[in-house]
Amino acid sequence: MDELLELKTDLRRLTVELIGKCKYCSLISSDVHYKTPIYCTKFTGDIHPTCVDIHTCLACQEYKGT
Ligand code: SF4
Repeated sequence: MDELLELKTDLRRLTVELIGKCKYCSLISSDVHYKTPIYCTKFTGDIHPTCVDIHTCLACQEYKGT
């Protein structure tokens, strides 16, 4: 596995661990090359989740559950 792919795989694993707990996160794409892998239902509901990136979640902080 090349280093870039290894880094992306690690980033995806960390994203799942951190953001996967958010009550509005319905799915995290398994495609490590996808730039907006997190399916967020907070603003658009369960039927039409918004695809967001990790930076959006870190700014939002809803995953902290506070
Ligand atoms: S953007 Fe906010 S509400 Fe949506 S999945 Fe990320 S942390 Fe959760």
